[in-house]
Amino acid sequence: MFATTIASQLYDAALALVYPQACAVCGASVDSRHDGVACETCWNATRLFTEDDTLCWKCGAFTAATVSQNRRERVRCGKCDDLAFNGARACGFYEGALRASILELKRQPQVGRRLARFMFAAMQREPLNSADLIISVPLHPSRERERGFNQAALLAHELARLSHLPLDDHSVVRRVHTERHRAGMDSVARRKSVAGVFAVRHPDSVAGRRVLLIDDVFTTGATVSSCAAVLKDAGAEEVFVLTLARPERY
Ligand SMILES: [Zn+2]
Ligand SMILES: [Zn+2]
Repeated sequence: MFATTIASQLYDAALALVYPQACAVCGASVDSRHDGVACETCWNATRLFTEDDTLCWKCGAFTAATVSQNRRERVRCGKCDDLAFNGARACGFYEGALRASILELKRQPQVGRRLARFMFAAMQREPLNSADLIISVPLHPSRERERGFNQAALLAHELARLSHLPLDDHSVVRRVHTERHRAGMDSVARRKSVAGVFAVRHPDSVAGRRVLLIDDVFTTGATVSSCAAVLKDAGAEEVFVLTLARPERY
């Protein structure tokens, strides 16, 4: 897989010299291939979370409140008490360059350097920075065959490479095929739809670990919560979640 990725990256680089790529958001030309499918201007206009943002300490929901650094751990949105993970963070809102990159990642198995750096920066912040094992949310095998790859696994690989944390891409399996973003589903319906979807094949590999679970988008948190629940049942000490984006602006 790595040889294929490198070959395709070289091919893209050569191609970009001949045919400059148009930004997927605004149509201007993309000057650096590290920016992926969006141009510098669109990246700068995309809202990404920083250490200065006040987020729900548990689920990472954005709040407009300004809370001093030493009180951040007490901030809660009030909607995430039932979710099984210990803490979740996204790089930013599902919009602009981030949205275009996520859509592209479903089509092309390549993680742009800029995207990887944002994710790496997010995983170095509290509370995610205490994780000691990286696991991606698995796709159902039939979905993965259809697409040819799992975009969450690509992100997890990239983060393991950057952080030098171990990657476990075999312990968690997806047993049931679900529609991940079915329209009209409220949070209860989503939670029901993902109950029993995941299983841990090798509990010994996750027991006592502080897992960083990787997915592309955090919607209601039902999917990652269901995955976190089986990891905890298997003995994981804590489960954190990192995604590229979350959709809502509060
Ligand atoms: Zn643009
Ligand atoms: Zn919350």
